[in-house]
Parts: sequence; structure tokens; C-alpha cells
Amino acid sequence: LEDQFAKSQKMQAIGNLAGGIAHDFNNVLTIITASVDFLLLNHRAGDPSFQDLLLIKQSANRAASLVRQLLAYSRRQTMRPKMLNLTDVIADMHLLLKRISGDLVKLERHHARDLWPVMADIGQFEQVITNLVQNARDAMPEGGTITISTRNVPEAEIKRLGYVEMTEGDFALVEVADTGGGMPDKVAERIFEPFFTTKEIGKGTGLGLSMVYGIVKQSGGFIFVDSVVGKGTSFRIFLPRHFPSEAALAKVEAGPAVLSA
Ligand code: ADP
Repeated sequence: LEDQFAKSQKMQAIGNLAGGIAHDFNNVLTIITASVDFLLLNHRAGDPSFQDLLLIKQSANRAASLVRQLLAYSRRQTMRPKMLNLTDVIADMHLLLKRISGDLVKLERHHARDLWPVMADIGQFEQVITNLVQNARDAMPEGGTITISTRNVPEAEIKRLGYVEMTEGDFALVEVADTGGGMPDKVAERIFEPFFTTKEIGKGTGLGLSMVYGIVKQSGGFIFVDSVVGKGTSFRIFLPRHFPSEAALAKVEAGPAVLSA
């Protein structure tokens, strides 16, 4: 228990540091991008400096994307939470996820139809799933199976599972499991830290899972990883069940309007 406490304090300290840097860096980037845009207006494609300016602009865009991931980790990103059914969101992502997994990987889905709703930002949740599927694919260069499942986990079961960080309430669970190479404990302990990667330079930034962690935490949820070397890895995301207000429910009964709480 003490271990977990120390770990979450460490994660928070890294988050504060990363968030502070990202925030200031973002201001600098805004100036670079605006200045380059201005210069590009005064240059034509054939001009000698045009290619250099484009390169600056592309690099600034890439830096901005890294900064966004860091801001998500440190929970300084603005969220627009809506009431979501995660089964539906994942079903809608099926084609995209198939494309990410590639031809060698089989993508399976097991979904609870009556999954409890949660409050989350749909764009951010899609980023979470996309990241987990990308990592799963990377862990299976020779192919394998990715299984995405959802189900309701009532409070009584949470207690039985014994996740010490979670104490009360009902949760909707999303699990992304792969049959890849897995990871040793030494790696698993550090995967949520920003910039921690075991991938080659240029292949991984080490920001994917830290962003996932930040988004899940900001949504009031929990994430756990189980991994066995040579067998595979499974990520479990628990998001708190949302109880819609009567007004929101009345709106659903009245017609097919999209629910937002
Ligand atoms: P990146 O993918 O850029 O390395 P992440 O934060 O997404 O950054 O992941 C950090 C590290 O966690 C990876 O480099 C890898 O070592 C490990 N990892 C993540 N997902 C898996 C997985 N499904 N199977 C095995 N290792 C994984």
C-alpha cells in the first residue's frame, strides 16, 4: 500500500514538472508558429528560404503535438465530458482500430450491451483506445490477437478484486489485451512515466501511456496493467458509473436526441 502511495506521489510530482514545462513551452511555440506563418505569407514556393520555413513550421507542429500529450498527462488539458456509452464509442472506432492493428493482428471485441454510462471526453477516450491498440500491435510484430472488452463492475466486485486504490462505487470497465511479448516488472512499473520508452529512437516518444494515464485520472478513473513476459499484456481501465439526472433521461425518452449531461 505504501509503495502505491509513494508511486502516485512520484507520478504527481513528474506531472507537475512536465505540466509546468509544457505550459511555458506552449507559449513559446505559439510565437514561433505565428511568426513562421507570417514569414510564409511573404515567401513564394520557389524562394530560397521557403523550404526552411516550411521545415520550421512542421517541426513546431510536431513539438506542439508532444506538448499536447504532456498537458494531457499533467491533467492541464481542457475536457468536455459528456455522458458516453463506451461500448458504442469503441464500436464506432472499429475500422480505425483495424487499420491500426494491421493485417497480421486479429481484432476481437466482447461487449456488454447494457454498459453503464460514464462521463468522459469522447475525443480523449478515443486517444486512449488508439494508444493502447498501437502499443499492443507494436508488442506483436509477428501477429497475434488484440481483444477489447467492456463490462459492468459493481462495487461488490471491486472490493473482491482488491484494487487498493479503488474503494467505492460502480465502474464501467474497458480492457485491451494482447498476446504479445509482455514486459518484465521493471518495465511495467515505469510505463506511465512521461518519456519512458523501450522502443528505438524515432519509433517511440514514451508519451502515449502517460497521456492515457492523465486522461483516465482526469476522468475520475483508474488504470491497471497486467503483463506476463512471453504471454501478453492487458490494460484495464475503470471509469466511474454515471447516474444521469431525470431531466437527461426524459430527453432520451422524448426522442433520439444525443444525450449530454
Ligand atoms: P511508446 O509507445 O512511445 O514507447 P508508451 O508510453 O505508449 O510510449 O509506452 C511505454 C512503454 O511501455 C513502451 O515503450 C513499451 O516498452 C511498454 N508497453 C506499452 N504497451 C505495451 C504492450 N501492450 N506490451 C508490451 N509492452 C508495452
